[in-house]
Amino acid sequence: MSILVYVENTDGQFKKSAFEAVSYAKAIADQSGNHVIALSIGNVAEGQLNLLGKYGATKVLNVNTEQLKSFVNQAYTAIIVDAAKSIEASLIVLSNSFSGKGLAPRVAAKLNAALADGAIELPTGSGDNLQVKTGAFSGKAFAFVALTSPIKVISLNPNSFEIKESDIAATIENYDPSIDAADFSTIVKEIVRATDKISLPEAEIVVSAGRGLKGPENWAMIEELANVLGAATACSKPVSDAGWRPHSEHVGQTGIVVSPNLYIAIGISGAIQHLAGVSSSKTIVVINKDPEAPFFKVADYGIVGDAFEVVPKLITALKTYKGL
Ligand SMILES: Cc1cc2nc3c(=O)[nH]c(=O)nc-3n(C[C@H](O)[C@H](O)[C@H](O)COP(=O)(O)OP(=O)(O)OC[C@H]3O[C@@H](n4cnc5c(N)ncnc54)[C@H](O)[C@@H]3O)c2cc1C
Repeated sequence: MSILVYVENTDGQFKKSAFEAVSYAKAIADQSGNHVIALSIGNVAEGQLNLLGKYGATKVLNVNTEQLKSFVNQAYTAIIVDAAKSIEASLIVLSNSFSGKGLAPRVAAKLNAALADGAIELPTGSGDNLQVKTGAFSGKAFAFVALTSPIKVISLNPNSFEIKESDIAATIENYDPSIDAADFSTIVKEIVRATDKISLPEAEIVVSAGRGLKGPENWAMIEELANVLGAATACSKPVSDAGWRPHSEHVGQTGIVVSPNLYIAIGISGAIQHLAGVSSSKTIVVINKDPEAPFFKVADYGIVGDAFEVVPKLITALKTYKGL
């Protein structure tokens, strides 16, 4: 039996979440005596495919046809299911990314498999009884999900599992899946990027700001801080509701859930609905002029001060530190 990992790429480059998924599968394989086979769909160069061995894949199934250049949910589902059947996978691992959220339940339904979506830790147990800890209720709680079917699907939350290097030279095999023309009833003709910015759900550092910034005209310093740190920008709900920032940046219970290594919250009060989206961040830094702001209760580091004084000083200090 083997573990199949679907590895996502963007324009031919694997995402960090793909390496996390392979590392996660490798850790499970080490516990259960299985081996990891990665499945790549799209036009990915050999150098990138080879990298998957470094994180624990013994083999890479490479599906590279023009038709599959862009993500098509039905077709990608069919390919993952086909590959899982052909290698008799007992477990399929995906990243709980935007496309993973669409793929995992479809793959599970087609394979009659049990599904744990949004895993945040390695499973415990073995064989037909795996227990998986997942995030629940927008990160406000945990769920312990028991997977009791012979085939299982786990989608891993980005930034939840540390990438681990292995010393494996993966073999690369061009794979020709058997898929139906009906799986291509939806065709993505063109993808136009709205922004070249770092993707928020996968960012390692997030600089986020709230109503304390007073208006959209004051976001230049937030953008600058994010640029210096190589971070994604985010905001609270009222900020996006007011049209100060795009809705794609809204973090929280009703927005995006993030789990970066560092979350910097500037002029955000720390309402429960906002915290629901950021509480699994590894380190939280809060900048707020009100020492009683609830966000300080969950902060690892806090600066009580006016954002308009603190943020420019922080940018200057970081630029000096980085020699910029
Ligand atoms: C059903 C429901 C769902 C919701 N979902 C979400 C969600 O997903 N995400 C979300 O964010 N909210 C959500 N909310 C709204 C949430 O309850 C809060 O109202 C919101 O998070 C507050 O945003 P804020 O912190 O930016 O603004 P405020 O609450 O107005 O806080 C502004 C903060 O900035 C500080 N400040 C002011 N000036 C400065 C300065 N110069 N320097 C430093 N600090 C300063 C203030 O001390 C204050 O703490 C939801 C609400 C409901 C009812």
